[in-house]
Amino acid sequence: MNIMINKNVVQLHCLKEEKAEPSDEVITEDMKWECLGAACPSSCCHLMYARIFIHEIVPLSKHFPITFCMTDCGGEKHDIAICILLRHIRDGNYCTYLEKGSGCAMADNRPLACKQFPFSAVKDETGNNRLLVRLSCPGFSEVSGHPILMPGRDISPYLKQECIDPATSGCDSYEETRIFVETLNRYNLIADGAYTHKGETILFKLVDLKKLYELPKETLNDFRARGYMQLINAHANSLIDNITRHIDTYLARMSK
Ligand code: SF4
Ligand code: SF4
Repeated sequence: MNIMINKNVVQLHCLKEEKAEPSDEVITEDMKWECLGAACPSSCCHLMYARIFIHEIVPLSKHFPITFCMTDCGGEKHDIAICILLRHIRDGNYCTYLEKGSGCAMADNRPLACKQFPFSAVKDETGNNRLLVRLSCPGFSEVSGHPILMPGRDISPYLKQECIDPATSGCDSYEETRIFVETLNRYNLIADGAYTHKGETILFKLVDLKKLYELPKETLNDFRARGYMQLINAHANSLIDNITRHIDTYLARMSK
């Protein structure tokens, strides 16, 4: 299996085989990686949203507003994903949970998207997981860090545990996540929302609960049987408190 580079993303290998084939282009045996944490000059924690997976909705709802992101794919097509909002849009470009000098306050509770970065996994056309590597992360080096490949081009146990396992866990629930979002979209349940606190307004997408409870009883029973009502409730309950936290954090950072 070849390692291919496409712009800044490298397709590394088929995870089922836990091996990477040699490439003269990209990943070498000398290449190392470590997260630079609070010292990172281009932290991945500056993003506005992180894509999450269906099994993360309930645990992450305690910490982040769970919302939906829509990407225009051209024509009539849109990609809709479940996302968490990481910060107030006006907040100095980093997540509410990033504490300057000490890094992420979420520790092991952080989303899979954070744990796996700069790696991610996608299913290829044969159903195998393929690992993608974002070489824009400044944690790559030939000098210091954890080796990426072991002799024989196995992925190192450290990288596997810290990044690759979270990446494959997300990838494995991709289909279930997609079906959940598509179901909400099919019933036209995703609407625009806004919440204002202390004069600051945050816009987001949410499930329209009024429309939800107007659905036929059989549809609601089907949603209950699939566990969707619990997920929708967790989403709805995640919004106000966590958006308030984002705004309060922004205002506190501004006042320093
Ligand atoms: S994963 Fe990479 S981009 Fe993100 S904080 Fe660590 S070194 Fe920086
Ligand atoms: S949860 Fe932690 S790792 Fe993820 S974006 Fe926020 S500070 Fe960064």
